[in-house]
Amino acid sequence: MIAEEMIVACCTDLAGKVRGKAFPATQFDKRMKRGIGWTPTNVQITCFDTIAESPFGSLGDLVLIPDERAKVRVDFADDAPVEHFALGDIHYTDGRPWEFCTRSILKGALERLEKVAGLTLFGAFEHEFQFRNHATPLGDAYSLNGFRAERRLAQTLVAAMRAAGLEPDTFMKEFGRGQYEVTMGPSRGVAIADHSTILRELVRSVSGASGKEVTFTPIRDPAGVGNGVHVHLSFLRNDNPATWDPKGKNELSQAAGHFVAGILKYLDAIVAITAPSVVSYLRLTPHRWSAAFNNLGYRDREAAVRICPVSDMSDIAKAAQFNFEFRAADATASPHLQLAAIVHAGVQGIEEELPAPDATAEDLALLGAQELASRGYVRLPTTLADALERFRTNPTVTGWFPAGFAEVYVKHKNGEMAFLEGKAKDQICSLYEQVY
Ligand code: GLU
Ligand code: MG
Repeated sequence: MIAEEMIVACCTDLAGKVRGKAFPATQFDKRMKRGIGWTPTNVQITCFDTIAESPFGSLGDLVLIPDERAKVRVDFADDAPVEHFALGDIHYTDGRPWEFCTRSILKGALERLEKVAGLTLFGAFEHEFQFRNHATPLGDAYSLNGFRAERRLAQTLVAAMRAAGLEPDTFMKEFGRGQYEVTMGPSRGVAIADHSTILRELVRSVSGASGKEVTFTPIRDPAGVGNGVHVHLSFLRNDNPATWDPKGKNELSQAAGHFVAGILKYLDAIVAITAPSVVSYLRLTPHRWSAAFNNLGYRDREAAVRICPVSDMSDIAKAAQFNFEFRAADATASPHLQLAAIVHAGVQGIEEELPAPDATAEDLALLGAQELASRGYVRLPTTLADALERFRTNPTVTGWFPAGFAEVYVKHKNGEMAFLEGKAKDQICSLYEQVY
């Protein structure tokens, strides 16, 4: 059979989906200038394929320009077609960045970090996922046997990651039934979110090729485990690590202390972006090692932000190992939007010179509302509707985004919620696990 290789120019959108258009791969150079045509109302296509209220209607034209630095070509060297796509930015036809382009929004946040603090972001997303039609046997949590069951897939994935320019790190059988976790090495700036997107797509591609369906849904069953996204972050100043200060509170450098404080201060208003589905709030509950409060943890996996351990035995210097992770995130969000919200909150903390937070090492779920409040903690929103309300009514937070963004985002999410109206919890979980 004859075949011509095609490449997909794509973007992550408000639904956290990767959408785009394909063209013959030989056109790539031309398309880097011309782009592909894109429609404004696409941004209101929800994860359930409904169209939320759109201010654009049938009007307007945009171009999506693929970026060579975010181009992935993986030849699996078997009967499967070559995996070929490139992430890109959406512009108006006159070249201005479009207000709803998630990658451009992230670039804006990273520029703010550079401008305000002279810092470059360095980090990586860590992902958990589950097989839908392929439950691993009982008793395999963290086990060699559980790894063995997916060794072939893991090894293909690692090769695909390397071919795509990602640095493979670990792959393991996570705690839940059919649940695995994959991590990668850090990268800089917009590549952090690009690599998260690429990783999710490669997991889907590799799994699909072996007849397995994966889901990154935040939670399949409210009684079971969650699938988290943990965003590991650190800073570079003039190429040198700038996150660790052994004399700083919780060993955070001054800028890192302000940054983490900013995340915690604005967390309840940004979870609508970092954990943006209805089922995200079934995961963000106490005692499942996700995040239920706006706290910093030191060696504590129940915290929204956790300072990750460093080892004296590593070949990597402590200052370069030191990082913190944001745990109130999941894969129903665009990695670009997610990271933009975290960075803006952090930079806001730097601008406000917020003091580095204390770290908790106790169960905040045991404290009453008054005690929580007196210590400056808030319970994170418990529903998407509440999260959206806290986002919408926080002018500092909405002000970080381009004009009109917050309103359109809330409409998008209202459209998603409308689709679920009247449906039972298990049905809602099942719908999300199909689409993510
Ligand atoms: N599955 C947990 C989550 O939903 C995380 C478990 C872990 O610490 O790896 O975030
Ligand atoms: Mg994990």
